[in-house]
Amino acid sequence: MTYTTQMDAARQGIVTKEMKAVAAYEQMEEQQLLQFVAKGQICIPCNKKHTSITPYGIGSMLRTKINVNLGISRDCKDMDMEMEKVKRAVDMGAESIMDLSSYGDTRVFRQRLTRECPAVIGTVPIYDAVVYYHKALKEITAQEWLDIVRMHAEDGVDFMTIHCGLNRHTAQRFKENKRLMNIVSRGGSIMFAWMEMTGQENPFYEYYDEVLDICRQYDVTMSLGDACRPGCLEDGTDIAQIEELVTLGELTRRAWEKDVQVMIEGPGHMPMNQIAANMEIQKTICKGAPFYVLGPIVTDIAPGYDHITSAIGGAIAAAAGASFLCYVTPAEHLRLPNVDDVKEGIIATKIAAHAADIAKGVKGAMDWDHKMDQARKKLDWEAMFELAIDPKKARRYREEAKPEKEDTCSMCGNFCAVKNTNRILDGEIVSIFDE
Ligand code: SF4
Repeated sequence: MTYTTQMDAARQGIVTKEMKAVAAYEQMEEQQLLQFVAKGQICIPCNKKHTSITPYGIGSMLRTKINVNLGISRDCKDMDMEMEKVKRAVDMGAESIMDLSSYGDTRVFRQRLTRECPAVIGTVPIYDAVVYYHKALKEITAQEWLDIVRMHAEDGVDFMTIHCGLNRHTAQRFKENKRLMNIVSRGGSIMFAWMEMTGQENPFYEYYDEVLDICRQYDVTMSLGDACRPGCLEDGTDIAQIEELVTLGELTRRAWEKDVQVMIEGPGHMPMNQIAANMEIQKTICKGAPFYVLGPIVTDIAPGYDHITSAIGGAIAAAAGASFLCYVTPAEHLRLPNVDDVKEGIIATKIAAHAADIAKGVKGAMDWDHKMDQARKKLDWEAMFELAIDPKKARRYREEAKPEKEDTCSMCGNFCAVKNTNRILDGEIVSIFDE
């Protein structure tokens, strides 16, 4: 039996080895998973050439997955150091790495990633085209933009963010309906500038069928980019954002007609009270295609703490149906993240994803919490450290303020409610003051 993409296989009733792995990990029946993949409501991004991959499914009924952005840049060009960051991110639970390299020979790093890294690998070919062609933006031809997509597919990239939705019509609506922060998507701003300077249609929109043919050949999942994602609370759910989303809905249908898997990228900055409605609008317009959210950042006043502002938004979004969260680090809006920022960003995003999975009732999601609760009840500190999302930090905090009594902590000491209640229920005397 032959098939092109995971979606094509599912539509033919073929359970692939990737589907088997995903079903086992998610504790889902294979046939049930197959139905969701066939409908496009779960995607399994796995390029046929990415042989080192551990495949993951992305869909609102599965565990929420997280993405970490890394890559070579002018300020951080040590490839081995960047690979070390990738390894640490995967060890900390990132299911996906987006390679946003923007300096030097980006292909070498990309190929190394798909050769060695088990995470799902994503890229943004628009960034890479600017680096690769070494010429003025407006000199890049439509064919050259498409050639970069093919190159990334050949290199084994599992999903690509492509800003197809910002076509000339959307660009016109964006210009007519003023917004505070204009375009904050890097890829979106590049494509908008190219369209304005050349007067041409977005080549990824105009030649969308060619893009889909490439994706189908290698089984690259399209991550339909949100060039008009709001960059501040005031722009949340505005005309440009919704106009682009409607186009993404049409492009989703066209991709599915060619068995190409799709994700939809989403906001952005947005007040908390708009997030659930946005998830509903996306699900309706894009027929339940997995939603990949970049935040949402729920307040604009916290530079240095945007891993928190985005974790709040990410948790609400995932509980309301988003499937995939892009991490945000404390360095967001300030500088390139360092190793500590990457760690803080991953942990905040993992917490958001996990909290949402509990709220959604994802099978087995609360087991981890249950184990922690049992350890807490027994005041079993070693077990608590082992179960903590950041064991080193939990251990360090306790060691920094050792309690007088080893079985309690320095918060309440002899007043330890857990210890005293355990003792009373065991029939012991509790006196507190003379202990
Ligand atoms: S001392 Fe207080 S905070 Fe610490 S474990 Fe006991 S009840 Fe909890």
